[in-house]
Amino acid sequence: MNTTATASKPIILIVDDTPTNIQVLAEALRADYRVKVAGGGKVALDIIAKQGPPDLILLDVMMPDMDGYEICRRLKQNPATQNVPVIFVTARSDTLDEELGLRLGAVDYIAKPFHLPIVMARVRNHIALKIKTDLLEAHALLDGLTNIPNRRRFDQQLDIEWKRGLRSGEPLSLLMLDIDHFKAYNDNHGHGAGDDCLRKIAAALAATAVRPGDLVARYGGEEFVVLLPDTDEDGALQIAERLRSHVETLQIPHGHSATAACVTLSVGLASAVPLSNLSNNSPASLLDKADKMLYRSKQAGRNGVSCWSRDSGSAS
Ligand SMILES: [Mg+2]
Repeated sequence: MNTTATASKPIILIVDDTPTNIQVLAEALRADYRVKVAGGGKVALDIIAKQGPPDLILLDVMMPDMDGYEICRRLKQNPATQNVPVIFVTARSDTLDEELGLRLGAVDYIAKPFHLPIVMARVRNHIALKIKTDLLEAHALLDGLTNIPNRRRFDQQLDIEWKRGLRSGEPLSLLMLDIDHFKAYNDNHGHGAGDDCLRKIAAALAATAVRPGDLVARYGGEEFVVLLPDTDEDGALQIAERLRSHVETLQIPHGHSATAACVTLSVGLASAVPLSNLSNNSPASLLDKADKMLYRSKQAGRNGVSCWSRDSGSAS
């Protein structure tokens, strides 16, 4: 978590080929924002690629190396930067220019010579909107009950990691986990206790799969998924066993489980080195295999881990 005020300030990138423009804007904005500056289009794109997208961009239109419209076009084509608000600050005050800028996806258009208090006010408004949008997006990807990522977030991340695996050639592992006899738990302990149980297990899973890139999500109901990038089946098996035993050691009393006196988890594991989107080597087939292995764990008596290469009984 950011503890310093500076670290939590929104980041504004000023792009202009005229040093005095940069100087005036940077000086005015520095009190409330972290300011980055670029004297040209290519430098701006380079800064964004290396340091990550800012919260807002003040973009000059006329620059020698690459004009602002082209920069804006590229930013809007890139999923990583398409939601960054762009404000054109330009001497080209023709309505057609303004129309083009807004059509390219800019949120605002300020004519030079600019009146500094108006620039400040517009920046403040758009930053406030950006913060709200970011919060909404973050909430849309969280499970409301357990406060861990939801299925939508998981689906997005699976897609990202699969594509990354295609490039890197590293294996990707997937766990599906299901609370054993959860219906009986709810029926006998009540839904309030059931919700508490889900929260405790979500927290335990999230606290165990903690390497960078690991993702624990609630898949639905009493089912969780864990995505383990750059992890082969042996590595994933160790993590799966750690998750299973962590939940067992929570010793959440379950008076109506045929498996144990406490709440337990069944786990299905599948791994793949992403090759391409073939029917037997795809995000969907990885999910399908992990799901089949979860079913296998249920059949084998629950509170255990089954993995595809060992337990599927199939050479595929
Ligand atoms: Mg210029």
